[in-house]
Amino acid sequence: MSDNATDYHRLFDLTGRKAIVTGGSRGIGKALAEALAAHGADVAIVVRSTLDRAQDVANTIKAGGRDSFALQADVSDEAHVERMTQAVIERFGRIDILINNAGIVLPAPAEECSLDQWRQTMAVNLDGVFLVSKHVGRRMIAQKGGSIINIGSMSGRIVNWPFRHAAYNVSKAGVHMLTKALATEWAEHNVRVNAIAPGYIRTELTDEVLREHPDVVANHWAKGAVQNRIGTVEELAGSVVYLASNAGSFTTGEIITVDGGLTLR
Ligand code: NAP
Repeated sequence: MSDNATDYHRLFDLTGRKAIVTGGSRGIGKALAEALAAHGADVAIVVRSTLDRAQDVANTIKAGGRDSFALQADVSDEAHVERMTQAVIERFGRIDILINNAGIVLPAPAEECSLDQWRQTMAVNLDGVFLVSKHVGRRMIAQKGGSIINIGSMSGRIVNWPFRHAAYNVSKAGVHMLTKALATEWAEHNVRVNAIAPGYIRTELTDEVLREHPDVVANHWAKGAVQNRIGTVEELAGSVVYLASNAGSFTTGEIITVDGGLTLR
């Protein structure tokens, strides 16, 4: 390759970038934290309660040669979010990548969903994305650059069935629109904001459902996807590394669906 030719491999390089992954103690967040680190990023892992597990993820990343540490913060509490953001700045000096992954599902038919369940879902899934984006976004604006990636869901696009969780669906649709709104407001600051919308992905969250309803994959989740299966956490990593890196420099306000074709029909 000549000196001035584009090095396409390096477009995906995250060496020296500083990242935060919320909900990085397990499942999708853990895989995304490890994927960012594998591409060269230092990663702060934020969780509400599972600090030991988050520390294990940080230790794995450190063993691989990147810096990492775990912090406790509830993303729905603005005081926690401010403290967490400050702590990451103190350790890393800047924040280049934010993955808003923390999320919960409290299934309930709408007619039985309490206002408390509704509000808890919105507090973590939507207020949490807003609050962490707001405080980290301020730093990115001051630095004149950054990439925010929100973990939305197919449930923000369709009413997936058979489980009823209207609050979750609405919260994720809100995440998708918040992604577009922030992308528009912050483009002038060189801050890109995107989301991925996963389909069914095997994690502890889905395992809880599978324990009670072992046939749901065959009868609904895999059946609904044109690829006829559910996904793995590793299958989300590529789209997130793309959005976090220079490879995604002309992509903002986009919701990338990664669902095995579940929302095609
Ligand atoms: P998971 O296994 O239940 O993990 C959720 C993570 O979020 C945990 O690390 C949890 O840690 C953290 N968390 C929850 N509430 C928090 C809060 N208030 N503050 C800080 N951290 C918090 O979930 P997952 O399946 O990996 O899903 C991750 C994301 O992907 C969620 O946003 C989910 O909605 C979305 N998603 C999942 C699927 C799927 O099929 N799995 C599909 C589409 C979208 P603590 O318990 O310590 O708080």
